Amino acid sequence: MDCDEAIVRIYQYLDGELTVWRRRAISRHLDECPPCAHGFDFEVELRQVVASKCRDEVPPELKRRIAEAIGVTLEEERRRPQQF
Ligand SMILES: [Zn+2]
Repeated sequence: MDCDEAIVRIYQYLDGELTVWRRRAISRHLDECPPCAHGFDFEVELRQVVASKCRDEVPPELKRRIAEAIGVTLEEERRRPQQF
């Protein structure tokens, strides 16, 4: 796995869309590649900050817009059945 592929996979990894084997391949790459590991740490941290800041005090609509802006799918959005 090269760095370009690793970056793409990291987002899928964080969204829980990868198989166990893909996750292992990414972990291996992150162990061997400090720049990608740093990027991964940053992404995880960013998501945690957003998750904690958005938990209670932010209106759901704003929360959704923030999540969209940074490319995160909110757990509750994902669980909610699509009814339009
Ligand atoms: Zn890399």
